[in-house]
Amino acid sequence: MRKPFIAGNWKMQLDCQGAAQLAEGVRAHAGVDVLIAPAFVHLAEASKARQAGVLLAGQTLAATENGAFTGEVSGEMLLDIGCEYVIVGHSERRAMFNESDLLVALKFRRAQASGLTPIVCVGETLAEHEAGQTDAVVARQLAAILDQMGASVFAHALISYEPVWAIGTGKSASPEQAQAVHAQIRSQISKHDATLAGSVRILYGGSVKSSNVKALMLMPDIDGALVGGASLSAEEFNKIVAAAV
Ligand code: PEP
Repeated sequence: MRKPFIAGNWKMQLDCQGAAQLAEGVRAHAGVDVLIAPAFVHLAEASKARQAGVLLAGQTLAATENGAFTGEVSGEMLLDIGCEYVIVGHSERRAMFNESDLLVALKFRRAQASGLTPIVCVGETLAEHEAGQTDAVVARQLAAILDQMGASVFAHALISYEPVWAIGTGKSASPEQAQAVHAQIRSQISKHDATLAGSVRILYGGSVKSSNVKALMLMPDIDGALVGGASLSAEEFNKIVAAAV
């Protein structure tokens, strides 16, 4: 039985006061793991939500340990400020910050080496979707980790399938579309380790709202959601969490 997991990615949004208010408004919920991923500069303030049972994540991390890397934030720093998780390979980082499959894999490894649980995002662009390349793209992104590090790393990691065409567009993948990709991800891991394939939690991300989360979560291989825009309202995010049980 995989416990539902709802994560809010706040991206580069809010000011200190807004982040503090939002963190205060997010509620933990029995039977669901609830996580927020604020901007780095808001982590200290938002970490107060941990007292209420809300989990904390960074939105990315440096691929290296602490050192002379101006502007970077290490896994050790995220752990120190109260994060248990970190998002790696979000499509915005892949597309806008040139994060390759290799760099995402290095960040994944660094996250685990620092004691954090990575949430690795995979997903195809609209052009790839329309060209029928969804399965190939997702398989390649996952293989960059799986083939190098083995399936055992997924004992302490989550995967989030986020079709890029569904992010921030209001146009979610249908439950059936998302389920097909989630099943493929699980089957790819199963070729290495069937037990781990059965236990790893696979989230869906892309225009998730309180009105569509239930139908998505009814799918057998969808274990939760990574929520962008809708996580910026505590009321809406709490509704998504409540609907996920
Ligand atoms: C995201 O950026 O991870 C995301 C899923 O955004 P949204 O929910 O706004 O589509």
